[in-house]
Amino acid sequence: MKEIALTFDDGPWGETTLQILDELIQRQIPATFMIWGEHALQYPNILKRAAEAKLFAFGNHTYSHPSLLTIPRKEILSEIKKTDEIVKKITGEIPRFIRPPFGDGNLETLQIINRPMICWSLDTESWQHHEAKLCLEKVRAAKDGDIVLMHDFQAADAKALPAIIDFLQQEDYVFKTIPDLLGNQLSDEPFYYYSRDSRNNVGFKK
Ligand SMILES: [Zn+2]
Repeated sequence: MKEIALTFDDGPWGETTLQILDELIQRQIPATFMIWGEHALQYPNILKRAAEAKLFAFGNHTYSHPSLLTIPRKEILSEIKKTDEIVKKITGEIPRFIRPPFGDGNLETLQIINRPMICWSLDTESWQHHEAKLCLEKVRAAKDGDIVLMHDFQAADAKALPAIIDFLQQEDYVFKTIPDLLGNQLSDEPFYYYSRDSRNNVGFKK
């Protein structure tokens, strides 16, 4: 049995997030949402609905979505703390892991935040091409243990999701949240994670 984790960044974001939630809840597909703090303040009820489904995990995607390589330590900590508090208030739990905006981070960032940083091994690239068909094409390259980057404020990802789930189910994938995919690894000292089987402490090599 192959495992895969779908992750959705930048929400909650109105209609497209609702569309994605409907699809995932109806088909009982676990997934992970990486929460942009400002957006959660704007759409608290959508995040609440996601939490009430008891199907999803939530990561901290900062408060205002800066590159963590461009701001000082104090601001990094405040970006994380503000979103921790917002997510805690709405879902009842502080996120156990971080999705760094743009995947940006290095050893110092990791030490400052001191929590698992969840990157990705497969990207639908919806933010670049805005086409549902191309999102599905990208997912055809899926491998066991992949973490898939999608965006719940991108209409192309929302539109492609039913076909992406169909494809992955035909290929015998089981859908996992990030904590379920990574398991006990998440209790180790913090790393950047790219997939179930790939991690380091220096961030994406650019
Ligand atoms: Zn983002």
